[in-house]
Amino acid sequence: MRIRVGHLYPDYLNIYADRGNIAVLAQRAAWRGHELAVKPVSVGDELQPGEHDLLYVGGGQDREQALVAVDLAAKADAVAQAVSAGAAMLAVCGGYQLLGRFYRDREGRELPGVGILPLHTIAGTRRMIGDVLLQCEWAGRTLAGFENHAGRTILDDGAEPLGRVVSGFGNDGSSGYEGCRAGRVVGTYLHGPLLPRNPWLADWVLAQALAHATGGEPADLTPLADELEHEAYEVAAQRARDRGGRF
Ligand code: GLN
Repeated sequence: MRIRVGHLYPDYLNIYADRGNIAVLAQRAAWRGHELAVKPVSVGDELQPGEHDLLYVGGGQDREQALVAVDLAAKADAVAQAVSAGAAMLAVCGGYQLLGRFYRDREGRELPGVGILPLHTIAGTRRMIGDVLLQCEWAGRTLAGFENHAGRTILDDGAEPLGRVVSGFGNDGSSGYEGCRAGRVVGTYLHGPLLPRNPWLADWVLAQALAHATGGEPADLTPLADELEHEAYEVAAQRARDRGGRF
């Protein structure tokens, strides 16, 4: 199967190796006989709803977010149509913040968001940095990654977090939750990149994208050995545990 990916703003939003998530998805798809066709969609480019099975956006500093926010907000309808038609989406940190209603950065500028996730973000003075460990009850799994953000993300009542913080700051350093999930859309602060050390989430994202590509339901992908991936996870998870404390 050919999985069509729209990589939003790869030239602006790509820190802490976030583009590595695309490489992982491409390799894990190939190991199952699928092909990932990645199209960059940046400032001034058109986004056609229905053109992609998966949309991906990485993280970035306030400056880069300010350079793309207006363009992304102008694509809000296309993004909303794409995900309501079943396209999957993965957004990391700065990209995650711009999926909410707005991000007020450290200079007080209110950057518009696309509003497909029920949340908003306000930058604080202290950055929240370090290794993170999450418990994802919805999947019966854990996630390990790295966070570095000034933004405090506030989920609306009833919004679904990606996971409960076992170690780290998470969305805002006080709620005890990290990320947000709405159907096939996942937003998270976890860099690293995230997917090489969390292969189950990579496969979950691939399965959602494949479901869109085939018009069917998400199906389990053939299991892989993932020895190196599990080792990488263990190292990251142990660093997070050693860091200790939720805040
Ligand atoms: N600029 C945003 C913040 O500081 C996002 C940072 C990031 O993507 N790592 O919160």
